Amino acid sequence: MLIFRLPRSGYTPLRPRRSICPDCSHELAWNDNIPVLSYILLKARCRYCKKPIPVRYFIVELLTGSSFLVNSIVMRPSLAIAACLISSGLILVSFIDLEHFLIPDSGIAVIAAGSLAWSILAGAFPRILIEAAIVFGLMILFFFVANRFKKDSFGFGDVELLGVLALATGIIGTLFTIMIGSIVALAAYAIVSRAQGKKLSKETRIPFGPFLALGGYISLLLLPVLKNLYGL
Ligand SMILES: [Zn+2]
Repeated sequence: MLIFRLPRSGYTPLRPRRSICPDCSHELAWNDNIPVLSYILLKARCRYCKKPIPVRYFIVELLTGSSFLVNSIVMRPSLAIAACLISSGLILVSFIDLEHFLIPDSGIAVIAAGSLAWSILAGAFPRILIEAAIVFGLMILFFFVANRFKKDSFGFGDVELLGVLALATGIIGTLFTIMIGSIVALAAYAIVSRAQGKKLSKETRIPFGPFLALGGYISLLLLPVLKNLYGL
């Protein structure tokens, strides 16, 4: 719901009170809104006008549910709750970035809240504030340098995303976030350009946010393992 509403004017998270079908404007009933299940039971079509429901809804619901499951399996309950806030925020900003090429501040705020809670519960607070400030400072520097060479190559939303993720994963975690995000982004770029049968033109824009989000989430889950692997 937030992925649809946040970037659109005339909508707020609380208004309209009930969701409506964007095609026929019919109010949705509670049983049209059950995550994952409604999409399958309605056969991906609006109950009222039979127009297709974008597969994005199904993917978002499946990803959110899967991340909650993973969090609750690999973490103790209090950390898992903080991690669910982080993973929800990451999914939120990723799908808005894919569609609109922007990362909303409200999504950044959700991730910041989750990351802060995570660090406090994990005993990394307040040291983590210094680490996040260093990451944020370096990223702002990189933002200005990168955009001097190529305009719009690195969005300020990406800077904010890395900054708030660092509140949970610290400096070393941020390095893994950037490394994993860049590798997956390059692989995705190669696959997309191969599928299109040509090199993507210079004008083709690929948002970096979703890749940083994925890198950040993997880094959050596997930080102890990754640190061990590199002897850190
Ligand atoms: Zn409809």
